[in-house]
Amino acid sequence: MNRLTPIEISIVIPTYNEEGNVQVLAAQLQEVLAAQNVASYEIIFIDDGSTDQTLSNIQALQTTQNQIHYIQFSRNFGHQYALKAGLDHARGNAVISLDADLQHPPALVATMIQLWREGAQVVYTRRQDKQQIGFFKNLSAKSFYWLANRLSEVPIEEGTADFRLLDRKVVDTIKNFKESHLFLRGLIPTLGFKQVALDYQPAARFSGKTKYSLAKMFHFAINGITSSSAKPLYFAIYLGLFFALLAFLYGCYAIYIAVFTDAAITGWTSLIASVLFIGGIQMILIGIVGIYLGKLFVQSKQRPTYIIQALTIPSDLANDA
Ligand code: UDP
Ligand code: MG
Repeated sequence: MNRLTPIEISIVIPTYNEEGNVQVLAAQLQEVLAAQNVASYEIIFIDDGSTDQTLSNIQALQTTQNQIHYIQFSRNFGHQYALKAGLDHARGNAVISLDADLQHPPALVATMIQLWREGAQVVYTRRQDKQQIGFFKNLSAKSFYWLANRLSEVPIEEGTADFRLLDRKVVDTIKNFKESHLFLRGLIPTLGFKQVALDYQPAARFSGKTKYSLAKMFHFAINGITSSSAKPLYFAIYLGLFFALLAFLYGCYAIYIAVFTDAAITGWTSLIASVLFIGGIQMILIGIVGIYLGKLFVQSKQRPTYIIQALTIPSDLANDA
């Protein structure tokens, strides 16, 4: 780990079609960093295949300010991979990640840096105000954390997002994880280290619109749960056992009806209903097994999880194309 100039703080920002946000965010961050007397810092935008003016806006900043860098992906790989690329390339003694849309208040970065200077190794944040994010998002977020915490080994705290500070030690640990389906929110709590929580009120998105539709969030949630836990597979077995038991009891009842009464022909409805129901359950269970199998398949190919088109930071990584 030989670095020519020691950088105290790296800021990592996944950016996908955020042309209206990058300049404002960079200016606010620089103000905060200057107020904290951060001697040297870098702000790294990861352009996750934007189709608007995001990249040229970043390049405009980068030509005049040498603390600003970018990593341009060859296409859209998704928020988590943009984050991973940022962590892989950041050179700072602490790395702070936040969203590009100013929902994560840059002012909080000051508190993060203070806590880190006092010895914290992970400063993670908890979103406080639920009204801001809308009914559906709130409901889906709530159900996700409820389910995730029942199904995973280490609980994920509600409202924690990818807005956090990581000490160099933690970043180097994460760099060694070669997971193809990364879910940092589930991974970081399992790592240990000295973790400190910070509560905050989210701001409204400054410009542009959310990239997470309900369908995308559903996918994100399933990926999150199945990336950090194998418990859904046990759940499948319990559910299977439960319905096998029900079927057995119903079978006993059917035999009783056939042997001791003469009402045996009725019951077509219950028959078709239970067949369809059990068929549906089986589909779900096959789906759960399929998700894990698919993840193994992708992982076994060991392809790079993201592909870089261009970047302005020196890199010592083997997996950049
Ligand atoms: N983002 C990204 N790649 C994507 C989708 C989103 O890098 O495929 C970035 C986006 O630019 C933003 C952050 O991830 O900085 C969070 O996205 P967004 O604000 O749309 O999500 P929300 O806050 O609505 O959950
Ligand atoms: Mg947002």
